[in-house]
Amino acid sequence: MDFNLPETALAVQDGVRAVAAKYDNAYWSECEEAHRFPTEVFSDLGKGGWFGLNVPEEYGGGGQGLLEVAVANEALCASGGTAGSFFYVTTPGFGATTLVRHGTEEQKQAILPGLAAGDIQFCFALTEPDAGSNAIEIKTHARPDGDDFLIKGQKVWISNVENADWMVAVTRTIPAADAQPRTNGFTLFLIDVKEALAAGTLSYTPIPKMGSNILFSSQVYFDDVRVPARNVIGQVDAGFPVLWDVLNPERIIAAAGGCGAADAALDIAVRYAQERVVFNRPIGANQAIQFPLAQIKAKTELARLMTYKAAWLFDQGLPCGNEANVAKLSGAQVAWEAADQAFQTLGGMAYSKEYPIERMFRDARIGKNIPVSEQLVLAHIGTSMLSLPKSY
Ligand SMILES: Cc1cc2nc3c(=O)[nH]c(=O)nc-3n(C[C@H](O)[C@H](O)[C@H](O)COP(=O)(O)OP(=O)(O)OC[C@H]3O[C@@H](n4cnc5c(N)ncnc54)[C@H](O)[C@@H]3O)c2cc1C
Repeated sequence: MDFNLPETALAVQDGVRAVAAKYDNAYWSECEEAHRFPTEVFSDLGKGGWFGLNVPEEYGGGGQGLLEVAVANEALCASGGTAGSFFYVTTPGFGATTLVRHGTEEQKQAILPGLAAGDIQFCFALTEPDAGSNAIEIKTHARPDGDDFLIKGQKVWISNVENADWMVAVTRTIPAADAQPRTNGFTLFLIDVKEALAAGTLSYTPIPKMGSNILFSSQVYFDDVRVPARNVIGQVDAGFPVLWDVLNPERIIAAAGGCGAADAALDIAVRYAQERVVFNRPIGANQAIQFPLAQIKAKTELARLMTYKAAWLFDQGLPCGNEANVAKLSGAQVAWEAADQAFQTLGGMAYSKEYPIERMFRDARIGKNIPVSEQLVLAHIGTSMLSLPKSY
């Protein structure tokens, strides 16, 4: 169903699929079991220039947009389930998408060429233990100190700190209680992760978790991390719209990953349903097996269309919040339903490590909770698209 994709996106799809084809499910499972970063894929993607897709050509990138990044992420996830999502987290997402739209010329020149080459990695720090989904209430605070800011606070579940060169950190420069309106007083910073770790002002502790172990997700502590004022992304106190230009693309790419992960699980389930013979017929001939798989196929194609639409809107500079949320809801749901139905289709073999379904099952489940939970997405749709009263 690629009929509506532009040539640029089709070329990306072909190119990334070719890289992904070198790495089978056994590769992704091995990385997951060993809790190791997929260095080989990362290196191949860097050599191919795939991290710079949405970086303008003058900074060494491909000059394309979020649509092409979505297609790339989808292709990777289709090869290894949600494991492919490391692609967006580490570089094009929090780095390129944010800086291209809101970075200063100095920030772009310093970071984008290395990012496009795959030499620079990112992480994004928003979530806090006492705020959770209610990001308005974050407490990590940045206070001016001469030409610098000092950042103090704590974040939780931050992915890829261990590999990151740069962190996009979301802080309060005005506490929520004093901000008028409450969305005022957000400031986003670029933190030099390795420098702050070496200074001992930044530290992190990985959280043991049930899946997605190719990246750590960590508690992060900021103990007066010193950041020069030139590292502010956008304007001091006016970071809230910048934040949405991080969160909406993140939802769109999560949706793309969900579609790719659904394709991956469906592919395994369909092959098994064709080959496994019980009661003298392939199990896929039974409608109790066939129809749920057909339903997932239909839902995946629908989620994909909404994902592409949301990415296209973002690339046009048009509002995309509603579409990003609908895409995220649909992509995450279909990834989970596909993994669950594939699990059912494989019978006892689903529980065996011979097949990657047990890994896909674990990885797909978290997509309904992150990067934004299903309930908060529905709350957005209820209030923004249906004008119902707000509960959050
Ligand atoms: C593997 C992993 C990687 C992550 N990576 C990052 C990262 O790199 N950077 C980062 O900043 N964060 C990251 N996160 C954090 C993630 O974005 C949050 O976990 C997510 O936004 C949900 O927040 P929470 O866990 O605090 O849930 P909570 O806000 O505590 O919510 C708990 C439950 O209550 C529900 N709920 C809360 N309020 C309402 C309401 N008003 N109405 C209905 N239901 C409600 C939620 O939907 C949810 O089901 C990651 C998390 C995980 C698990």
